[in-house]
Amino acid sequence: MKKSIRLLSILLLFSATLSFSQVKNPIVESIIKEATENSQLKKLAHELTDGIGPRLVGTPQMKQAHDWAVNKYQSWGISAKNEKWGEWRGWERGVSHIDMVYPRVKSLEGIQLAWSPSTNGKSIIAETIILGDAPDSMAFQKWLPSVKGKFVMISMNQPTGRPDYNWEEFATKESFEKMKAERTAESAEWRTRMTKIGLSSKNLALALEKAGAAGIVASNWSAGFGVNKIFSANTTKIPTVDLALEDYGMVYRLTESGVNPKISIRVDSKELGLVPTFNTIAEIRGTEKPEEYVMLSAHFDSWDGGTGATDNATGTITMLEAMRILKKVYPNPKRTILVGHWGSEEQGLNGSRAFVEDHPEIVKNIQALFNQDNGTGRVVDLSGQGFLNAYDYLGRWLNPVPTDIKSQIKTSFPGSPGGGGSDYASFVAAGVPAFSLSSLSWSYGNYTWHTNRDTYDKIVFDDVQNNAILTAILVYMASEDPVKTSREKSILPVSSRTGKPIEWPTQRSPTRKGGVN
Ligand SMILES: [Zn+2]
Repeated sequence: MKKSIRLLSILLLFSATLSFSQVKNPIVESIIKEATENSQLKKLAHELTDGIGPRLVGTPQMKQAHDWAVNKYQSWGISAKNEKWGEWRGWERGVSHIDMVYPRVKSLEGIQLAWSPSTNGKSIIAETIILGDAPDSMAFQKWLPSVKGKFVMISMNQPTGRPDYNWEEFATKESFEKMKAERTAESAEWRTRMTKIGLSSKNLALALEKAGAAGIVASNWSAGFGVNKIFSANTTKIPTVDLALEDYGMVYRLTESGVNPKISIRVDSKELGLVPTFNTIAEIRGTEKPEEYVMLSAHFDSWDGGTGATDNATGTITMLEAMRILKKVYPNPKRTILVGHWGSEEQGLNGSRAFVEDHPEIVKNIQALFNQDNGTGRVVDLSGQGFLNAYDYLGRWLNPVPTDIKSQIKTSFPGSPGGGGSDYASFVAAGVPAFSLSSLSWSYGNYTWHTNRDTYDKIVFDDVQNNAILTAILVYMASEDPVKTSREKSILPVSSRTGKPIEWPTQRSPTRKGGVN
């Protein structure tokens, strides 16, 4: 008797804990089931990164991606459109072919920088010259004519192509310290060389161009094996290319030792004039409070050294997948669910700033916005962005999220408002409770962010799937919440830099006509 009472009370206790921590919510269950049993993430990632490729603002691929997203949404029964917000210098990448042709032939790993001028349908063959070490700007002006007809190497030659973690693993402590000391000294010397020239990198490129250089060769190493960051050119007539550390180092040393290597560059990009730029907006109309909005958000554009896989195809497919799932399992939301796939985040949050400026009627009624944009990793950080009561509603919305997903998330409340970094900041500046679903790094900073290696193979689909589930549940919970979220701002702390209280970031206008001088 005693024994069975104890058993009964254990059972009661067990079922009580069960019902307390895992109240089964049928919508949440369906979200998880659809996301795990019918995931579209790999297909979406493949079509976007391998098929369409990188999505530099102003390129035909960017427009193709916007059209692809609209078609995807429509195929899922979700209404979607491309909304024009500005214009950009249109440009399309072509073949980049870079070879060393003297003292021996070696094809070089390199790429034309974004918006670099082409070589007008031919190959340019020329000797190389290293940026001069002039004692002052006058001396630099005297040195300038020596660049005529040559490719100018404007980056420091890295002393090692091995990342520090590799040195740490294998080097003796002494040789690692020695290498770092030498590298620090060489970097300081190179910075001094640039300071003495007295020109910004933009004006340096223009001065070299004016002095008759055949082109500019740079190498923007990203401190990992085989990775360079690929940004845009500053020249207006001559090509600018980036070479991989290994090849740049080889050509640099041959130039330095007086071998006078020659390289051949052919780059076939096209100028397309001013072209319109867009955001893709899709919506699942609310039934009870259609004038209130829950937003999903991720920038759609990318740099174009790789295929923009972790920046930001992963955020993009997270939002696409979450929308697909929501439409299937929660087709009649209480509030309107909107998604924004922004154009031109990389040049200064332009797409999202334009949306905030163009849609005050939506912005004032956003219940919450969730943005993802820092790599492929599972979400590990969630800040209240300075909103005083964010702990209350975000806490409630996180409640039904499966433990294996949410246990990894470190929350900080009230947090402080993000002033930039990604598109949620455009909304935070307008007082919207907008949050960053911040990811585990997976070596984002050096290996994939804006690099030539930001490609499909770096996507960690298990993590992205977790993020799609998390996003869908948060959006569902925010949509169902009986109350509208508080926008009350916390009093911000005193800045250690200025000694004054930190001010809330202010709304800024986008660049509506970009890439033109
Ligand atoms: Zn990004």
